[in-house]
Amino acid sequence: MNVLKVGVVGTGAIGREHIERITNKLIGAKVTAVTDINEANAAKAAAICGARVEKDSAAVVNAADVDAVLVCSWGPAHAASVLQAIAAGKPVFCEKPLATTADDCKKIVDAEVAGGKHLVQVGFMRRYDKGYLQMKKIIDSGEMGAPLLVHCAHRNASVDKSYDTPMAVNDTAVHEIDVLHWLINDEYVSAQVIIGKSTKHTHSKLKDPQFIILRTKGGITIDIEIFVNCKFGYDIQCEVCCEEGVIRMPEPSFPTLRKDKYRSVYIEQDWRWRFADAYDVEVQDWINSAIKGEVKGPTAWDGYMVAVTSDALVQSQQTGQTVPIAAGERPEFYNTRL
Ligand code: NAP
Repeated sequence: MNVLKVGVVGTGAIGREHIERITNKLIGAKVTAVTDINEANAAKAAAICGARVEKDSAAVVNAADVDAVLVCSWGPAHAASVLQAIAAGKPVFCEKPLATTADDCKKIVDAEVAGGKHLVQVGFMRRYDKGYLQMKKIIDSGEMGAPLLVHCAHRNASVDKSYDTPMAVNDTAVHEIDVLHWLINDEYVSAQVIIGKSTKHTHSKLKDPQFIILRTKGGITIDIEIFVNCKFGYDIQCEVCCEEGVIRMPEPSFPTLRKDKYRSVYIEQDWRWRFADAYDVEVQDWINSAIKGEVKGPTAWDGYMVAVTSDALVQSQQTGQTVPIAAGERPEFYNTRL
């Protein structure tokens, strides 16, 4: 296969961004079919790449000229499309979340394991970000000794009025939940959310900021500040304290300005720009792997783990208590894709 023929289910914001990058930026793939419940969005997407519009997800997945499937639809619709792709034996890249319930994620895990073939990659793009990759390389080398503590912050300048307290976990912290256990090669055993004083810039349905604590099987404690009305920008911080020293994620690089008695550096304002390179690397890697008949990156089990951990955190938001994370044993099938 020289060129991977991709079918896209869901052509809203990120669906069209991925179509744009596959068509105009990346190599080795072309989009041949698209679908969306919103016909205007599907038509806009088809115009970007010259694909045809199909009536629904099943028609895209089962089309003869679709080798691999990209699922970018509304979260609750993800599971059905991913299961269709597994049934068709086609590689499927599913934007996060894999599914909106842990039960649906588990159905996907069970279907993939039963099929005996790795097909699913979940769109947690931070694993492709240069800063996290540099940190992981240092941690894996062992030169800093064992990780002991992880401090993180996920800050947005502001959020939409419809954003509420559970979304701090389900929409925002999910990225840290996925990337951190991968970064430190460990698994979560308990989750807690501490909610204190809220900013005056929030509203009655959103407690902001929130402080998350995750503990791991290996005894590492992780804290994550989620602050989505921080006002000043999109700011992602990660610091790992190890036995021999501290590793800090590099800041995005911008020129330092000297002006009017001050030295200043721009702070990124939007996640699209902060992780633009990571999205490109992630989708290119998916294309390259699919052409070789392989699947890499975050697995369906990782998607399930994120769902179980998120459920525990949302439960803790209501009680403040520490909630155990009971995901069960990772199937042997996934041990080759750690
Ligand atoms: P979006 O712009 O709202 O696009 C979603 C598409 O699904 C829209 O065309 C929407 O149509 C359609 N849709 C709405 N209701 C539906 C339904 N009941 N059944 C099927 N489709 C429906 O959202 P997005 O920002 O592209 O996000 C899509 C997915 O990508 C989400 O799961 C999101 O979490 C994920 N995402 C991931 C990242 C990341 O960092 N990895 C970033 C952004 C988004 P309407 O326009 O008519 O509503």
